[in-house]
Amino acid sequence: MSEDFRETLYTVDKQGHRRWVYPGLVKGWFFTRRQVVTTVLMAIYLVMPWLQIGGEQAIFLDLPHRRFVFFGSVFWATDTFYLVLIFGALALSLFFFTALFGRLWCGWACPETVFLEFLFRPIERWVEGDSAQRQRLDRAPWNAEKIRKKFLKYVLFAATAWILASTFLAYFIGAHVLLHMMSAAPWENPGPFLATLFLMGLMLFQFGWFREQFCTVICPYARFQSVLLDLNSLVIGYDSRRGEPRGKHRKGDHDGTKGDCIDCGLCVRVCPTGIDIRNGLQLECINCAACIDACNSVMVQIGKPQGLIRYASENELTGKAWRWLRPRPIIYGCILIAYLVFFAYRISTRPMWEVEVVRGAHDVPFTAMEGDKISNHLTIRISNKSRERLSFEFHVEEPTTVQAVIPVNPFPVDSEQLQNVPLFLNFDKQVLHAGRAPVRILVKSSDGSSSILSLSVLGPE
Ligand code: SF4
Ligand code: SF4
Repeated sequence: MSEDFRETLYTVDKQGHRRWVYPGLVKGWFFTRRQVVTTVLMAIYLVMPWLQIGGEQAIFLDLPHRRFVFFGSVFWATDTFYLVLIFGALALSLFFFTALFGRLWCGWACPETVFLEFLFRPIERWVEGDSAQRQRLDRAPWNAEKIRKKFLKYVLFAATAWILASTFLAYFIGAHVLLHMMSAAPWENPGPFLATLFLMGLMLFQFGWFREQFCTVICPYARFQSVLLDLNSLVIGYDSRRGEPRGKHRKGDHDGTKGDCIDCGLCVRVCPTGIDIRNGLQLECINCAACIDACNSVMVQIGKPQGLIRYASENELTGKAWRWLRPRPIIYGCILIAYLVFFAYRISTRPMWEVEVVRGAHDVPFTAMEGDKISNHLTIRISNKSRERLSFEFHVEEPTTVQAVIPVNPFPVDSEQLQNVPLFLNFDKQVLHAGRAPVRILVKSSDGSSSILSLSVLGPE
């Protein structure tokens, strides 16, 4: 077996030039299931911006107003903590599922694979033909037919990229707003128009030219693989004990000296990253299962059992026992469950309003008034995250000699609004110890909930 693959990328030749991959189409058990999964995922992506829950877009990343709507729940810029929790949950899930199922994500759900393999490549095949025809077309000199096919392909690519880019933008500016903008001239909304063009360009570059290079050269997940997988993780592998020594033979003429692999090369020709899975687990393998379908079809033709290439663990492929239950996924799984419980608790107990004191670095810390009176000028930031208008009443609990002066008390704040309110705390100098004194303010909301605001008032030492 040649060991070249360990030091070289199939898609780069010895001179460092790009070697174009022309994967053939192979239909089979896995292809059909991937088609169903990717169709559902694409439908979710395209439909979600049009789905309304409680009068608002189901998923809406409203950047100008710094709010994020997720199936009826509104998160604000001040909710960064929950965003960190979500990223943490995603990272832990990735560790857990990769340890168990390898790169299932790459082959079945990654947008790169979904859009490239099930949108852009079918268009390419429809216009330019199968793998051999595409190669011939690319090698042929420019003539009328080549220009017509390339032009048609890129027009269809651009139309597809435009739909995908517009949908992506709809998650940020709202589907109905986008529709309204589209009915106007581009120069009336230059920002969204340029953003759509930029995204379209990016998609054309990625799906029209860069393609598998993203998975093999840029995506960090492929590189993390080596530390996330172990010998019992599910991967797509070639059973060399059964397949070797490989060699040509036909149905029925198997003399027992050769393995089941007839060295037809079909598994290599259908691979979207151009690798030979018979060399073992490689960074470039995106677990798309095309080689399984290809090899199974060959096995059927030569009357051998399917599964020469299959989903299996490295241990199973080398004849050892496959252990599903092992320390790594158990530890990842326990951490993930504990984390999700904590996450669910925090989300379910998330306050619908928040009040905080803002003391600017340039604010005068205190003002001496007539007699022994001191005044502190503060700003209170009230964020009403609920869907109703609330009013907030402020009452100093301790020390009772501190008087709170606020323009309107209770102070009304509209739904989903953030408001800064000036607050003056007036008190006698005697309240202070070493120039400061702790104060507790009870904040009561009209929804019946309350909170305590703890702060310090300042004065001369
Ligand atoms: S080796 Fe097989 S599973 Fe891996 S990328 Fe190639 S065709 Fe897909
Ligand atoms: S498709 Fe199967 S039989 Fe053909 S080369 Fe690949 S592993 Fe061997």
